[in-house]
Amino acid sequence: MKIDIITIFPKMFAPVLNESIIKRAQGKGLLKIKVHDLRDYTRDKHRKVDDRPFGGGPGMVFRPEPIFRAVEKIVASGKKPSRSRKCNPKVILLTPQGKKLDQTMVKKLSRCRHLILICGHYEGVDERVRKNLVTDQVSIGDYVLTCGELPAMVLVDSVARLIPKVLGKDESTHSESFACGLLEYPQYTRPAVFRRMAAPKVLLSGNHKLIEKWRKEMALKVTKRRSQYMLKYIKLKNWGTENEKD
Ligand code: SAM
Repeated sequence: MKIDIITIFPKMFAPVLNESIIKRAQGKGLLKIKVHDLRDYTRDKHRKVDDRPFGGGPGMVFRPEPIFRAVEKIVASGKKPSRSRKCNPKVILLTPQGKKLDQTMVKKLSRCRHLILICGHYEGVDERVRKNLVTDQVSIGDYVLTCGELPAMVLVDSVARLIPKVLGKDESTHSESFACGLLEYPQYTRPAVFRRMAAPKVLLSGNHKLIEKWRKEMALKVTKRRSQYMLKYIKLKNWGTENEKD
């Protein structure tokens, strides 16, 4: 998968993209991420990306020209004749007004070949970008951040880990929260007793059937406790297998 990120803060990404699983995925060639400085797509000597909103009001708004130019250039570079497969990237605007990111959306995005992410700032972006350039608008939650860089990183991280072979077999997504509609069961590790707090005996029993049963029961309990509405989406039949159809 290829991900292009358009931002006025390119340096914000290095610490996240150059660590851990995301770094490894890039090293293995499973993920190619390119961060573009929006100012490189301006044509004035001050490299101005924003302006005051028409009609007045507080703050500044991203001008449409540099964003259109950046996306068009990225799209054009992905359509070189040497490329055999057709490439229709998703152009995603990170915005609190977008569709809320959830695991179903993450799964769908992880199957795309190319994503272009636009990070807003200030009061946001000129409406013509939203209406005529982007294919998707994504919010990471019902709250407002100062900029789209953190939401872009959340999206990249959640999507990258679902790309086949990005996670090692010890980091499987099979039974984790949302994989089959339930939140994950509680996890314990050594020591078996810590400050007189003991791990559940069943987990030390070596009886895999009993462990599986306990985990199912606990996953139900955790899910019920944390969010009643999620019970609607439980697909018990799919327990332990990845839900490929979603
Ligand atoms: N004036 C905008 C509004 O009321 O919808 C908010 C702009 S916000 C201060 C600046 C930028 O941060 C947005 O353009 C967007 O890229 C990003 N942003 C803020 N909150 C976000 C969220 N919950 N999800 C995704 N992006 C967000």
